[in-house]
Amino acid sequence: MDLNQLLNALIPSWNSAALLVSFFTYLAFAGSVLPGKLVPGVALPDGTRLHYRCNGLLSLILLVALLGAGVWMEFVSPTVISDRGLELLLTTFIFSFLVTLVLYLAGCKSHDQSSSLKPHITGNIINDWWFGIQLNPHFMGIDLKFFFVRAGMMGWLLINLSVLAKCFQDADLSQSMILYQLFCVLYILDYFFYEEYMTSTWDIIAERLGFMLVFGDLVWIPLTFSIQAWWLLSNKVELTKAAAIANCFVFIIGYLVFRGANKQKHDFKKNPKVLIWGRPPKVIGGKLLASGYWGIARHSNYLGDLLVALSFSSPCGISSPVPYFYPIYLLILLIWRERRDESRCAEKYREVWAEYCKLVPWRILPYIY
Ligand code: NDP
Repeated sequence: MDLNQLLNALIPSWNSAALLVSFFTYLAFAGSVLPGKLVPGVALPDGTRLHYRCNGLLSLILLVALLGAGVWMEFVSPTVISDRGLELLLTTFIFSFLVTLVLYLAGCKSHDQSSSLKPHITGNIINDWWFGIQLNPHFMGIDLKFFFVRAGMMGWLLINLSVLAKCFQDADLSQSMILYQLFCVLYILDYFFYEEYMTSTWDIIAERLGFMLVFGDLVWIPLTFSIQAWWLLSNKVELTKAAAIANCFVFIIGYLVFRGANKQKHDFKKNPKVLIWGRPPKVIGGKLLASGYWGIARHSNYLGDLLVALSFSSPCGISSPVPYFYPIYLLILLIWRERRDESRCAEKYREVWAEYCKLVPWRILPYIY
C-alpha cells in the first residue's frame, strides 16, 4: 500500500460517519425499548443506586438478524467493515475525542452533588479529560458508560463477522479462522448473557467516564481484540490436529475459570450462604469469599480471562508476535489492575483483607504469582 492509498484508506468519509451514527442510534433505541432485566447497580457513596436494563443479548441478536436481512436484500455489504477497517477506526477515534470533549465541558459546568454526577475537577485539563470528571454521566436517560462498553463488545463481533464474510468471499476460510471466530462468538454471547455482572465491575463502579474509557471501549476493544482476525486474513497457518485440540482445551479451561470465578463472587455477594462447589462457603470477616476459585487465588478470574485471551491468539501459530498483542496487553493491564484493586480492598477491608491474603497468598496464578 503506498502513501496515497493509505491516506485514502484512513480518511473518514461521510459513509463511515453514517455507519457509526446508525450503529449508535440502533443501540440507543434497542437499549431503551427492548425488554430486559432491570438490575440495580452497587450502592454509591450517597446510598443511591443506578439501574441498568440488561437487554444486550436481545439487542445483539436483533442487530445481527437485521444486518443479515440487510445483506440478503443486498442493502448492506457483509464486508463493509473489513473493507473500511482503518477508516472506521479513525472515524471512531475522532468520535471518541469529540464526545469526551463534550463530557469534559458538561462535567465542568455541572453543579450536581449526587455521587454519580458530582464533578471531580483537578484543574489539570489533560488529566480531567483523560480520566473524566463524572462517574456515570447520562444522555437522554442512557447511561453512557454502560452504553459504550456494549457498543465496543458488539463492534468487536461485527468486525469479526465482516472479516469472516471476507473469507467466504475469497473462498479462503482456514481452520485457524474458524477456531478464532468460534471462541470469540462464545465469549461475546456469554458476556451479554451475563451482562448484569458488568454492573459490579471496576470500570462501572470506580472509573470516571473520560477519554481513557471511551477510547478503550470504542476503539481499543474492537481493534485489539480483533487483531488476530485481521492478521489471519493475510497470513496462512498450518495448524496440526493436536494444536487445534490443545487450543480448544485452553479456551474451555480459561472460560470455566473466568466465568466460574466471576459467577461465584456475584452469587456470594447476592447470598452469602450460597453453596460454592456444593459446600457452604468459607467466609472471612463475614465479607470475603475464601473458597471455590476465590480460595485458590485472589484473582483467579483474571487467570481465566488470560487463558481465554491466549486461546484467541494461539490459532495463529507462533510465526509472528502480532496476533499475541491482545493477551500481552491484557497481562499488563490485569497485573496493574490487580495492584490497584488490592490497595482498594486493603483500605476498604483492612484486617479482614490481611487475613484473606494470609489464607490465600496467591494473587493470580497459584504457586507462581
Ligand atoms: P473483579 O470482578 O475481580 O472485582 C474485584 C472486586 O471484587 C474487589 O474490588 C472487591 O469489591 C471484590 N472482591 C475481591 N475479592 C473478593 C472476595 N474474595 N470475596 C468477595 N468479594 C471480593 O474485578 P474487575 O472488575 O477488575 O474484573 C471483572 C472481570 O472483567 C474479570 O474477569 C476480568 O478479567 C475482566 N476484565 C477484562 C478486561 C479485558 O480487557 N478483557 C479488562 C478488565 C477486566 P467489593 O468492594 O465490592 O467487595
